[in-house]
Amino acid sequence: MSDPASTAAHAASLTTSHAASRLPIRDHRQLRAALAQSDVAPLLMVYTHFARDEDFLSRLAPFIGSIFDPHKQAPAELVQELHERLFALLTQDPAPPDIAPDAHLLQKMLSAAVAEPVGEEFVPMLLEQMGFNPPEIRSTRSGRQAPEGDFKVLVIGAGLTGLLAAIKLREAGYSFDVIEKNPEIGGTWWENTYPGCAVDTPSHFYSYSFELNPDWSHYTPNGPEFQRYLLDITDKYALRPNIVFNTRVTECRFDETRNCWLVTVADQSGSRVITANAVINAHGPLNRWKYPDIQGLQEFGGALMHTAAWDHSVNLQGKRVALLGTGASGVQVGNAIAGEVAHLTVLQRSRHWLMPNYYIEVPEAVRWAQQHIPHYAEWLRFRAFWFAADGLFENIRIDPQWAHPERSISALNDGVRDYCVQNYRTKLAHRPDLLEKLLPDYPVFGKRIVMDINWLENLCRDNVSLEDTRIDHVEKDAIVLADGRRIEVDVIVCATGFDTANMVGTMEVIGRGGRNLRNEWQDDPRAYLGVAIPGYPNYFLTVGPNSAPNHAGGQNITSESQIHYILECLEFIRSEGAATLEPTQAACDRFNAEVDEALQGLIWLHPSAPQSYYKNARGRNVMSCPYRLVDYWWMTRAPKPEDFELAGELIPAFNSSAAIKAAT
Ligand code: NAP
Repeated sequence: MSDPASTAAHAASLTTSHAASRLPIRDHRQLRAALAQSDVAPLLMVYTHFARDEDFLSRLAPFIGSIFDPHKQAPAELVQELHERLFALLTQDPAPPDIAPDAHLLQKMLSAAVAEPVGEEFVPMLLEQMGFNPPEIRSTRSGRQAPEGDFKVLVIGAGLTGLLAAIKLREAGYSFDVIEKNPEIGGTWWENTYPGCAVDTPSHFYSYSFELNPDWSHYTPNGPEFQRYLLDITDKYALRPNIVFNTRVTECRFDETRNCWLVTVADQSGSRVITANAVINAHGPLNRWKYPDIQGLQEFGGALMHTAAWDHSVNLQGKRVALLGTGASGVQVGNAIAGEVAHLTVLQRSRHWLMPNYYIEVPEAVRWAQQHIPHYAEWLRFRAFWFAADGLFENIRIDPQWAHPERSISALNDGVRDYCVQNYRTKLAHRPDLLEKLLPDYPVFGKRIVMDINWLENLCRDNVSLEDTRIDHVEKDAIVLADGRRIEVDVIVCATGFDTANMVGTMEVIGRGGRNLRNEWQDDPRAYLGVAIPGYPNYFLTVGPNSAPNHAGGQNITSESQIHYILECLEFIRSEGAATLEPTQAACDRFNAEVDEALQGLIWLHPSAPQSYYKNARGRNVMSCPYRLVDYWWMTRAPKPEDFELAGELIPAFNSSAAIKAAT
């Protein structure tokens, strides 16, 4: 739980940007400091925005580099000129007009900001994401009738996506409740409290587009800081009265006579059934963990824990610790504890590509710039988005003509490989034994990459060893490897991931005619746009099949796209006077055929790509979205009427959250 006073103060500093009202800037000393320390590319875009000076843009643009090219620098005198020009503009009184760039200029600025062409298809999404053209507020749509008070929406989960659903449902005037199994909001970021827990998507990207946080302490946020962001959002939007905590949804059953969902929820006092006109399942894929199936593990005599259920009562100081798993969680926890344990044995089952990254503090002056220089935060975010998301998509596209399929899938992918290999070779120059064990033999991005923030350095410590021999079994005081070696340990930490294959989760979902989603899907889930399923009217998924942005990061944008789409579906149902909507089987089949075809050209189905949690046992990728975020954004603007079946007439349903609570 956060301190309410600091939460309130922080919530007040969340910015929705577009503040020409921040001009003119009177604090010249702070402005000078901010200009001196801020990134050239976003500053140039702010200058271009206010001055509309495309000549100066053309002069400086050739010196803007990508984040993978930090050595490319603009001449000092040109940067100085930018600072002076911008200083004059930002301090002039009256302030210059704050007018959104037109599509042509914006595209030019976007391309200059990342030193590569940005297609025109990005412009509408970025006009929205950057606050130049915020999404329409549904409640102000002309001719729209406010949702009937008895049309009820139930959201499952109060994590990143569930909270977003709550904000947008409130804004659109819907009655809703959020059912959350935990005692606090946050989902993944509430549950994962292991030491070193971090977000590996850049801070300035990983937020709601309408709630940028100018105060991120580091360029990659740690877990508690991201959780604090979500707490601030919850308070700012006063969402708590709509969240029912400590309550788990165990079943959603469609009632065909009333065209609504009967949702069974359980808490300490027992279970009960509530009704809803629509269900938005935002329960998240990364929280169903279990211990690995290793003989003897449960009989281990020391402390045993999973990263997703950290036992803070265990003091690791001076202990011999075994760490199972070398994905993102394993590397983060390993980094955090390597310095305090007596010995850390890292047990690697398979190799993950490590991408160099850094945990760098955001200078105070740059935080000030985000708060006070209009549009600076948005341009900073755009660059982070590009290099951590859609700008990386080409890297996962297979070039069938590529001459070295044994190590990469294209020239671009080969370049990313070189970039990573260079990092290994530099840091492990004196440890060829580690290099030999660590370097993957499949193309980079073939499974989820892991951020190397000091991990290779930590693996080189005297008190750390890396084992890549298979674990045979666990004894009371040791892990025994397949070659017979016994590693005596006091603590076993399992950073062994989640049961992502089970997309239905722990609840039962029963649709029309008693069809059971778990039985239908088994290990091969399919949905329309990853959001809706034939036979399950008004049941909406988030992070559903083939909708995860695994080409890089960007779950935040996927969440915004999906929640937008789901609300548009609700609007569509109401505008048609119907009770329910579901995609036709034909539309769902067509979408999945397109997905399968698109996947064929991408890295995960390359013959050299390893098995990973993206794929089911037969190698079909059931998680990843084979499209860029921008493509998915376009796909999710509005439901296509011809792809849906509407049914019934609107009939009230549901008990309010007050009733739910009263019943508990
Ligand atoms: P993960 O990526 O699934 O990695 C699990 C690791 O445990 C893998 O190295 C796996 O090896 C190993 N493992 C699994 N079962 C094992 C067994 N029986 N014996 C030995 N090793 C075993 O899980 P994660 O690291 O918790 O990450 C889960 C997801 O959350 C990922 O998408 C991750 O990137 C994400 N995550 C994100 C952040 C963030 O910053 N946004 C932070 C943490 C986690 P194999 O590779 O052979 O399966």
